[in-house]
Amino acid sequence: MSQLKESLNPFEIAQAQLDEAARILGLDEATHQLLRWPMRELRVSIPVKMDDGSTRVFRGFRVQYNDACGPTKGGIRWHPNETIDTVRALAAWMTWKTAVMGLPYGGAKGGVICNPKEMSVTEQERLARGYVRAIGRFLGEYQDIPAPDVYTTPQIMAWMMDEYSQLVGRNAPGVITGKPIIVGGSLGRDDATARGACYCVREAAKYLGVELEGATIAIQGYGNAGVFMAQLATELLGMTVVAVSDTKGGIYCPDGLSWKAALEHKLETGSVVGLPGTKPVSNEELLELDVTVLCPAALENVITAENAANVKARIIAEAANGPTTPSADEILHANERFVIPDFLCNAGGVTVSYFEWVQNINGYYWDLDTVHQRLDQRMTEAFWKVVRAREAHGVNTRVAAYLVAVQRVAEACKTRGWV
Ligand code: NAD
Repeated sequence: MSQLKESLNPFEIAQAQLDEAARILGLDEATHQLLRWPMRELRVSIPVKMDDGSTRVFRGFRVQYNDACGPTKGGIRWHPNETIDTVRALAAWMTWKTAVMGLPYGGAKGGVICNPKEMSVTEQERLARGYVRAIGRFLGEYQDIPAPDVYTTPQIMAWMMDEYSQLVGRNAPGVITGKPIIVGGSLGRDDATARGACYCVREAAKYLGVELEGATIAIQGYGNAGVFMAQLATELLGMTVVAVSDTKGGIYCPDGLSWKAALEHKLETGSVVGLPGTKPVSNEELLELDVTVLCPAALENVITAENAANVKARIIAEAANGPTTPSADEILHANERFVIPDFLCNAGGVTVSYFEWVQNINGYYWDLDTVHQRLDQRMTEAFWKVVRAREAHGVNTRVAAYLVAVQRVAEACKTRGWV
């Protein structure tokens, strides 16, 4: 088969994934077209006074993809390579994520083209506040509720919530999630993405008859998602972490490495690379290690048609958004690799964000056990719903997750009388 070069445009990938689900569901043309594009896109310019007295103008986006199931929800990413198509794709995936989890939300995503690593704390604060002033009238507890994503932090969420509260003249903790506890954050939000992913891995192992105790895991990306994944895979699942990586490269130790030592080394030196007792491994090699579970927890498009055939892991737990291309999906499925697709696997973050929003709106806060129990229940239910769709339609897990999610959003659009 002659193959055109695989598209790595994340939004084209998101649309291709939707098209496949629409075909299998026999979705009518109007609903399909409605779901192929965002409902609303904002592009803003944000002038920021820098510490040296100059003014820099940053470009930002907010894409509100679909709000048929409720107010839109989705993180804000600060990244030098941010593009409107990345934000659109992430907003689409948020729509499917909230839908597969049965949360009363639509999907959105925001982004600012910037490199926070080269900005001071005060410059970051002015950018955070400027972004909210630029898009504030389109945000709200019942309209659009942001959260953190790559390179944005609970502190940045606190500044954004404060700026919004000042704009509307009241305390509005429910407008943004992923906040520090002191200003209305939820217990359990910090490790929620990884915890949700671990619950999915646990269920996948049951489904496949795989023993996790002592089994190996390799994790690409050692940030919020990756570090907690390493910790919880060890502590909750009894697994052995054999490799982790960051932008500077990876480290490998077949007998297992300490997630804590890797974190301390990264905090001291800026990278996991060079941790005593480990061998260097490239980010590409890490994906092809002979492990039970592979967890991509960095950025998009790392498992492609080029390397999918070399992936040896039995379970691929996609903590990152969009790590696998559609062609790679087909290869993984044919090779009996079980993919827990991103918008199911990493939905723990948005689920605890939902809990945070519920607590903010009610002004009544839950203990950590309640958060964990309710997260476990939601993740486990969603996992098995997807597995049942996979079996009913004879499709791979990602398509199955799409079938569950798209059906829900399509039904909400129809019931509202939009199509
Ligand atoms: P983060 O900024 O805390 O960490 C990202 C990590 O990836 C860093 O260690 C960085 O060094 C590494 N990285 C970046 N580019 C890389 C590359 N090319 N190769 C290897 N490593 C690289 O971000 P995060 O919050 O952990 O998010 C990671 C992924 O998880 C993203 O796809 C994000 O959308 C997804 N996600 C995160 C959450 C959450 O709650 N944090 C929720 C859902 C999905």
